[in-house]
Amino acid sequence: MKKKISVIGGGISGLAAAALMSKENEVIVFEKSDLLGGLCQTITSGTTNYYLGAHHLGGISKSGPIGKILNQLAIDYDETFIETEYLTILLDGKSHQLPVKLSELSVYITENFPDETAVEAFIQKLISYQQAFIVNDDALLLKMFMETSQKSFNQFLSEYFTNELLKKLLLSFGPGYGAVLGEDSAFTVLSLVISYSIGACYVKGGPQKLIHKLEQQIITNGGKIQKNVECLELLVDKETAVTGIRCKELKTETIFEIETDKIISTVFPFNILPESCQKLRNSTKMKKLEKGPSVFRVFAELLEDVLGLSSDNTYLGKDTSPLMKEQLYLAPSSDKLPICMISLPHKADPLFNESKRTIMFTFLLHNHKEKVELVAVLKLIREAMPEVSDKLEAPFALENDDYSKVVSVDEGSVFGWIRTGKSVQNTNSFSPVFKGINGLYICGNWSTDFGVYGAFRSAYKIYTILEENAT
Ligand SMILES: Cc1cc2nc3c(=O)[nH]c(=O)nc-3n(C[C@H](O)[C@H](O)[C@H](O)COP(=O)(O)OP(=O)(O)OC[C@H]3O[C@@H](n4cnc5c(N)ncnc54)[C@H](O)[C@@H]3O)c2cc1C
Repeated sequence: MKKKISVIGGGISGLAAAALMSKENEVIVFEKSDLLGGLCQTITSGTTNYYLGAHHLGGISKSGPIGKILNQLAIDYDETFIETEYLTILLDGKSHQLPVKLSELSVYITENFPDETAVEAFIQKLISYQQAFIVNDDALLLKMFMETSQKSFNQFLSEYFTNELLKKLLLSFGPGYGAVLGEDSAFTVLSLVISYSIGACYVKGGPQKLIHKLEQQIITNGGKIQKNVECLELLVDKETAVTGIRCKELKTETIFEIETDKIISTVFPFNILPESCQKLRNSTKMKKLEKGPSVFRVFAELLEDVLGLSSDNTYLGKDTSPLMKEQLYLAPSSDKLPICMISLPHKADPLFNESKRTIMFTFLLHNHKEKVELVAVLKLIREAMPEVSDKLEAPFALENDDYSKVVSVDEGSVFGWIRTGKSVQNTNSFSPVFKGINGLYICGNWSTDFGVYGAFRSAYKIYTILEENAT
């Protein structure tokens, strides 16, 4: 029997969930903004993409788990994605090209660090964890979680390697992609490394294309999408089961309520949980979680190739070991270029334009209210990378307020909870089913998962739970 499913939030996770579930159910998506996509917004001007959010996607491959979900959604992988093979890491004034695929990573480590003797054991361990992600097997994932969440990534690496440079290179996805450092949970850093090893890619023409395909799928399936509608509160029967949602039509300021059997929430749960439910055990656990960072992005035209930059680069700075913590975030008081991601258009993108390449620097901010000045950031770039700075033209920053429009909580949050060991454990205790309130599921950034990969993964997880319950 068809269920009434309401999805709160029209970001990638809400749209993926709705696209999957609207084939069999009566699905409606409520999005408070007049644009779909949430943190996957792209502004395209001529042949240039200005990414407000995600652009380099991990965990997406033709034969991997997300590939299968895309198949189910009739999204053609080859038509939609461009694969990348390595990440360039700028460390101590040198650039290193680290392969993302495990077979190539194994060759890279063996050739460049011949004294290391445990390369095979390390790669085999990662392959076993990769399997857990590929088959989406909770028992295998739990095993990985038990083995890695109580130790830091540094500790994990020290079980295999002695070379400090190698350990820093292997950390590279952590700081830029997930705000996690070597001293933070090995589980989180490994999840990033493993998802990118399954597949690293871009959406041809920008992530908005993927958003558009999901939107089309929902409509084809007979699902509904209501933009400019904010969900104000969940309606919960005696604190045990969802019965509906209270919403506001933002253009007309009309408040209305709808009945629903299931709710898939992709938004910060405390903004919609009724007060009476906030004392539930899950809620008190969630209260302890710290919200993740926001971002500051600088764009400029890059006049020519420099420093061997590829499409995706992570700047790890100079002698990172003791200072890394201070270098993770950009702050008004920063006197040194912090860790950042530096991205260039991929040559295989249909929008690629040789004579007009837009370089993008992404910095993490504690929150979007911190006022950072573009001129101060350009000075830091000049001091740290004069070769790059000399080749930049027409720099501009997306102002912090531009980000407050796309990040869905007041402080801004790129990936929901900040992923330290403790929050990993807390989020695991409630996701994707919100224990205590029947019919409430959490998907995307505010679940255990994050990133575009996590959005698809958590949406699919809810889809399979509902399918199992239906049979
Ligand atoms: C600058 C930046 C760079 C990133 N880079 C990458 C990357 O390279 N690779 C990667 O995989 N990930 C990246 N991410 C993370 C990725 O974008 C997110 O993890 C993902 O898009 C989250 O999707 P979501 O659907 O869970 O949440 P969101 O995108 O936040 O969607 C939630 C939606 O809900 C809406 N909403 C909020 N409250 C309400 C309400 N009360 N009622 C109705 N609607 C509401 C919001 O407007 C929003 O559209 C990046 C994020 C940012 C910001």
